[in-house]
Amino acid sequence: MNRELSPVHFLLVDDLAENLLSLEALLARDGIVLLKARSGDDALELLLRHDVALALLDVQMPEMNGFELAEFMRGNERTRHIPIIFVTAGTADNQRRFRGYEAGAVDFIQKPIEPDILRSKAEVFFDLYRQRQLLAAHRDELEAAAQSLREADRRKDEFLAVLGHELRNPVSALFAGFHLMRKKRDDPARTEIIHEQMGRQLTHLSRLIEDLLDLSRISEGKISLRTERIELDTILRSAIEASQPNLDAAGHDFTVRLPDEPIWLEADHTRIAQVVSNLLNNAAKYTPAGGKVALAAVPRDAQVDIVVEDNGVGIPPTMQSRIFQIFTQVEGHRDFAAGGMGVGLALVNQLVALHGGSIAVASEGDGKGSVFTVTLPLAQSAQPADATVGDARA
Ligand code: ADP
Repeated sequence: MNRELSPVHFLLVDDLAENLLSLEALLARDGIVLLKARSGDDALELLLRHDVALALLDVQMPEMNGFELAEFMRGNERTRHIPIIFVTAGTADNQRRFRGYEAGAVDFIQKPIEPDILRSKAEVFFDLYRQRQLLAAHRDELEAAAQSLREADRRKDEFLAVLGHELRNPVSALFAGFHLMRKKRDDPARTEIIHEQMGRQLTHLSRLIEDLLDLSRISEGKISLRTERIELDTILRSAIEASQPNLDAAGHDFTVRLPDEPIWLEADHTRIAQVVSNLLNNAAKYTPAGGKVALAAVPRDAQVDIVVEDNGVGIPPTMQSRIFQIFTQVEGHRDFAAGGMGVGLALVNQLVALHGGSIAVASEGDGKGSVFTVTLPLAQSAQPADATVGDARA
């Protein structure tokens, strides 16, 4: 896996600028940042700000010497585990070594420094630190994966609970109708009404089940789009045909605005018609009778916006990001929902995404109407493959 790892910091502490320069020249390489300090105090300050993989401390410094600095480092939780290499002048006698190890040294290097020895020791600490970074990144990834599994598990439980609850209403209505029909056997007019009501409930239930199955097919990656090169106009006409009865029944003023030039898509005719029709049906439902509903297609760059606008009940800003989640309904919209359960927009969202598009909603809130915009990519080249043969729209 290719991860962007942050650079590894080495701390170099020496009171002589020229020593720092030569250490820097020896250790500089990609992926390492060298922090330089001319005194123990400067070093402690740098240690507060950076995570350090290795500290190279000159032993002989005025004021705070290397051993004293090391003791400070050991006394602080944040710096306690930083490996230290002491740089000593001349041959280190046993006593000095002993103090060094007590202060927490990992190693010693003697001046004059042998470049290869210093580099190979530094390399070990560089690799160790990198390993730790990789392990930490791996642990974070595992934690994130576990977290999203827990979240998915919770959503599934919630889904089952809501589904059971929501299915109970239409099923109890069907039960009631079933018993009533038997009771009213001698009243054919009444029986007919009950029959019609039950028919509507059944249509509704089977549509809901189809939507749920579609959603589960999408999430399992089992839905296959029947993509073809098709003109948007053809798709929109199918959608309008499906929704016209609902728009008419509510007595809405319905307008359509399409560009003159043909707009070509690579899309599944049925699925995109289903998307637009779903939005038109919602506009019809959530707009009080005699309202305004408009459908428009607006091409821009390599995309087209399909816009469904109504002047109905609107959607409060806090709900706008949530209505594409399954079973989400706006509080107080139930009276308009006509038995809907908040499944339609979840499916619409998925179908649009499968086409490489996106959907957005805008509404200024209660009573201010809503605008749904579906953005879809245009087909690769502007003309149909058989454009030379004739106008495909004819
Ligand atoms: P439903 O079957 O409940 O209509 P949808 O998934 O289609 O489910 O929509 C989810 C919710 O979004 C609806 O319950 C409603 O509260 C809100 N909604 C959808 N379209 C509109 C609209 N045009 N105007 C106002 N609210 C809408």
